[in-house]
Amino acid sequence: MIESESTGLVEVALPLKVRHTFTYEVPPALRASAVAGVRALVPLGERRITGYVVGPASSAPDVAVKAVHELLDQQPLLDAHMLALTRWVADYYLTSWGLVIRTSLPPGIDRSTSRSVELIESSELLAREVARLGPTQQEILAALKGRGRVLLSSLRRRWPGREVDRLVQHLVTRQLARVGYSDRLPAVRPARRSVVRLATDRAAVEPALAVMRARAPRQCALLEQLLRSATTVTAAEATAIAGASGVRGLIAKGLIRRVEEEVERSPWEGATVERSVPPQLTPAQRAALDGLLEGVASGAFFPALLFGTTGSGKTEVYLRVIQEVVRLGRQALVLVPEIALTPLAADRFRARFGDRVALLHSGLSPGERLDQWGRIKKGMADIVVGARSAVFAPLSRLGLIVVDEEHDPSYKQHDEPRYHARDVALARGEMLGIPVLLGSATPAYESFHRAKEGTYRLLVLPERVEARPLPSMILIDMREEKARGERGPHIFSRPLADAIKQTLAKGEQILLFLNRRGYARLLLCRECGFALRCPRCSVSLIYHAADARMRCHYCDHRERPPARCPKCGGIGFGLLGYGTQQVEAATRALAPTASVTRMDRDTTRRRRAHQHILRSVEQGQTQILIGTQMVGKGHDFPGITLVGILSADASMQIPDFRAGERTYALLTQVAGRAGRGDRPGQVIIQTYNPDHYSILAARDNDYDALYQIERPLREERGLPPFGFLVLLVVSSPRETEAQERAEQLAGLLLERAAAPLALEGPAPAPLYRLKGRYRWQLLAKGSDPAKLHQWVMEGVELLPASDQRSVEVDVDPVDLC
Ligand code: ADP
Ligand code: ZN
Repeated sequence: MIESESTGLVEVALPLKVRHTFTYEVPPALRASAVAGVRALVPLGERRITGYVVGPASSAPDVAVKAVHELLDQQPLLDAHMLALTRWVADYYLTSWGLVIRTSLPPGIDRSTSRSVELIESSELLAREVARLGPTQQEILAALKGRGRVLLSSLRRRWPGREVDRLVQHLVTRQLARVGYSDRLPAVRPARRSVVRLATDRAAVEPALAVMRARAPRQCALLEQLLRSATTVTAAEATAIAGASGVRGLIAKGLIRRVEEEVERSPWEGATVERSVPPQLTPAQRAALDGLLEGVASGAFFPALLFGTTGSGKTEVYLRVIQEVVRLGRQALVLVPEIALTPLAADRFRARFGDRVALLHSGLSPGERLDQWGRIKKGMADIVVGARSAVFAPLSRLGLIVVDEEHDPSYKQHDEPRYHARDVALARGEMLGIPVLLGSATPAYESFHRAKEGTYRLLVLPERVEARPLPSMILIDMREEKARGERGPHIFSRPLADAIKQTLAKGEQILLFLNRRGYARLLLCRECGFALRCPRCSVSLIYHAADARMRCHYCDHRERPPARCPKCGGIGFGLLGYGTQQVEAATRALAPTASVTRMDRDTTRRRRAHQHILRSVEQGQTQILIGTQMVGKGHDFPGITLVGILSADASMQIPDFRAGERTYALLTQVAGRAGRGDRPGQVIIQTYNPDHYSILAARDNDYDALYQIERPLREERGLPPFGFLVLLVVSSPRETEAQERAEQLAGLLLERAAAPLALEGPAPAPLYRLKGRYRWQLLAKGSDPAKLHQWVMEGVELLPASDQRSVEVDVDPVDLC
């Protein structure tokens, strides 16, 4: 890349919520190394933080320029393509380039420093000084004594105001203290171990062996081991073989050497997986593969949608294209939604491609992540399987990107930078001129539309492999069940309860789905109807039986259930609505001898918990799996023949134009877990809205029906895919301020709105209060994304700088609440 030698000035992207880069000067000694893509420790206020050199500065700014303190890498972490890609993401999503770059790198590798102060304890001088200080300053000085370096920020926290600064200034001018920087080292570093290896070539070792054979058999054993494996032996193993003195002796003779070696922390739990044999493709798979191979051969950007029913063998198609891509010496990137799915998916790839598969997701330990990233960067992986941020995997010979379950909302990041991994994958594919394969049984509305219109190649797998039937779906009208007058929460309808018992009797497995964790929805006062709400968010608290606490699912606020109603003082409480914990209890009551496992956010907090649960289902130890949407994602469990969807209604009630699409996807995906083996599956869906179009479309496996029904509604409102959106959320701890700012922003935008641009709102956000902040929202719409984004950004930037920070900008939002 271009170097900074000419001007000595570089542009540095900082991982802060600001959209511009910063100019720094590079000291002459560092200039040759200050290439784009290396990290730099740079001063920012009183700290030094890690930033990313993105190129030479085009011109010197008017303000004084500070100098780069240190460069942190010998080799760039980002090549020209990754710089261009992260830049594109920052520009498109109206966010910070530095934040995008940080997202693209393994976490925990950055350095930072803070200002600290240290006494120079000479002296009577100091003692004399103490007498002249006021009481607060004496206290501060006492806190400094004998402590070595103390962070200025921690002192200021204890003594707010100006006293700390005054004292430090005073001590420094009298040469009684010095101010410097304290380093915060990276949280994650490469792991090393001590190993021994041969110090000379084989020819020199063999005669030595002959001489030593009789006298020193243990030393010989070690030498032979090193000759055989032609690699290294850990220091501990070497000592076990030859004894400590034997190892020392061999080192003294110059035959072996002790060295430090980097070790890879491997995420693979079991050492190896069994190799799988590729099956004969079905005609539909063959046709899809042929279409894709055309794309691979074309050497151009080739977006395609593989629209295949659940269990139609999409993964097999991915494996075959990847095989071809790898054969051509290129690499493949496979994205899967969230960590729930990654390990098992990765196993299927490892079974076909062995050790050339790398894994990247947030369920790995930071060390494992760093090491997997390093392997990829060094070109040691042909296939990378990973979740959202793996779209930034540093592959230099990328030849194909697969986005499995491309409809999944978890591809969108909810905090800054708010990128959508599927859309970044498409952009990356376009930049590189390679195929991007989106796969789903329930495509995103946008993707389906583009495939229908011919923007993407549409490839269809209409049937399950081996002519397995799709599961039969039965809708249960819960209004009738209720009318039958049974008391208590209606968790299991009669038909579902019967089906559970019959399935267990046949020795088959069951999946029960409910998209609501916790025990009960509401704790309600029987006297006055008061329901306990979160003090910081506008939602009710959810009762969790495990620790008998009321919890907020948005901010994790917890409290004990009150003994008395805070409003009327009544002592009778009722629980209303049910969550997965209550389903678990009801299931155990219904089937006391069955082994029941619950999988939701509360049972999967520990690392690899997902994996253990899914394995136990795979191996048949779990007979009934209960879970939230994480159980519905792509798992292939041949033993499950019954799926019960306890309530199809929750996803329909969200105030979002994607509610229909979401409901369809959720029902189809969860239902798709049934009957994937030799025995046919059955799905029972409980609902209070049995006539809703998305439920009927899901029952009939008719995505096109959903597409057609929604089309006029979306077209008319200019909603995706017929228009683009930017969601603006203005928040403040003060209610009136949030509203006023939202109105001010709306005014600024409307003044500048040209014809194809439109604004909805401001209106209170559906989640009106979140973590103590009131939220108002605006929805900006336009048919041309570039014009839309520019309009929005110009509007936001007209607000005073301090107000801009309270505006969240979400480009292509997937959640409108
Ligand atoms: P999808 O990803 O479309 O839901 P999978 O790829 O998981 O479907 O395939 C479903 C099952 O069918 C898997 O167990 C897979 O091994 C198997 N399978 C896929 N293709 C074939 C084929 N051509 N012949 C036999 N079995 C197949
Ligand atoms: Zn809350």
